[in-house]
Amino acid sequence: MRQLGILGGMSWESTASYYRLLNQGVRQRLGGLHSAPLVVHSLDFAEIAALQQQGDWPAAGQILAQAARGLERGGSTALLLATNTMHKVAGAIEAAVDIPLLHIGDAVGQALQRQGVRRAALLGTRFTMQEDFYRQRLAERFAIEVITPDATQMAEIDRVIFAELCQGRFLPQAQAFYLDCLRALQEQGAEVAILGCTEIGLLLDGLDAPLPLLDSTELHVAMGLEWMLGGL
Ligand code: GLU
Repeated sequence: MRQLGILGGMSWESTASYYRLLNQGVRQRLGGLHSAPLVVHSLDFAEIAALQQQGDWPAAGQILAQAARGLERGGSTALLLATNTMHKVAGAIEAAVDIPLLHIGDAVGQALQRQGVRRAALLGTRFTMQEDFYRQRLAERFAIEVITPDATQMAEIDRVIFAELCQGRFLPQAQAFYLDCLRALQEQGAEVAILGCTEIGLLLDGLDAPLPLLDSTELHVAMGLEWMLGGL
């Protein structure tokens, strides 16, 4: 197997999912005592989130680029950046290393394309929902029309991610609110919903959603597994 480097800690709640799912995937495919050859560089999310708030993306990009170089030096053959939002600085990371960054937007876009989806709802941080770096990739590479919640709902979705989910709080009020948002997006013609924040799957786990959900964490992990096992 090929060693994979994970840029994690953003938040560690979802990095823990990556670790578990990658290992489960290897066990499923290879059996016995096999487990995933991984190196995780887990950052202090308070520092990264503060830079997001200040809009200092270049500084955040440099922190991630430095961590990526360490993972490359340590023998990782590809990288998973375990957050959707920080793919805003994917370019800075890619420029710092010679190994590929397996892009979460491509993992999601390929799944949408396989399912023949044309119009998808997107839930994530306000950066992911509003800015171009994610939606444009889905539109240009995969011809997906992305629809997002209204401004009031967007603000609350974003608040819940930072004030609750990334702090390990998964509350029934937030579940009900997210399901309301999904219903509204379905009425606007969304065929599926992208869980475009790596913690949302933890919140909605086991709930009955009004439309099919595509979890970016699971799809990104599947891409990482293909890499490790030589399929990519
Ligand atoms: N994990 C989240 C994401 O997938 C949000 C945390 C962050 O801002 O990086 O976007």
